Amino acid sequence: MHFCLTKTRSDTLPAILCKTFNQFLALSNLHPSTLDYHIWNSLHQLHVDPVTDPLPHMATLPHKSRERASRNVLRTTISTLWRMELLNQCPLNLSHTNSRRTSYIHIARYDLQRSDLFKPAQYLLTHLNQMPLLRLRTQGTSYIPSHLHLTDDHTYTPYDERYCPSCLPIKIVGNELHTLLRCSHSSPLSHPATLGLPRDLRRYDLCSWFSHTPHDQTALLLGSQ
Ligand SMILES: [Zn+2]
Repeated sequence: MHFCLTKTRSDTLPAILCKTFNQFLALSNLHPSTLDYHIWNSLHQLHVDPVTDPLPHMATLPHKSRERASRNVLRTTISTLWRMELLNQCPLNLSHTNSRRTSYIHIARYDLQRSDLFKPAQYLLTHLNQMPLLRLRTQGTSYIPSHLHLTDDHTYTPYDERYCPSCLPIKIVGNELHTLLRCSHSSPLSHPATLGLPRDLRRYDLCSWFSHTPHDQTALLLGSQ
């Protein structure tokens, strides 16, 4: 959900709508399936009052500066809420559950301490292209079968049924760990990176590659830790 700081005159349509909403709608009166409910619930969680200036100390500054400052404050608040939700799901308790969120926590859990999770960590940025590794980690690629949540006819596939197409008819969830380390069809593609890592870990006197769990090895390959 996207929020933007906007200042407008009281006789414009957005201002009238905002005033009307604020007067007549309360969270308890809205059905959880409605968009209004989600807007008001998000405002409540982020401690945002739409009729109060969130940056009174910056009232005299240009509007663009106020928008930027408001966005940064919201990003930190949203990052904190999202991090709390993710970290509350202790990774030790996750080993027997299989979901997109579990997979993300296993891969990125050492990277969740940053104050602004909207900004990619420095090691994910290169002068060439910053997106492929980030998309792999946030599960937005078509290369890993478990990232494909929709079938060709746009029906939803449960996580546990997102099988590796190369291993069928054996039904194995095609998650990052399987695709990069275990699949006899796709894992050879990651061998160049896998072969270099043990050598680099030895060079910097870090823990041996083979002492890491498969989950940690996957996280390492995807730029975490
Ligand atoms: Zn496979």
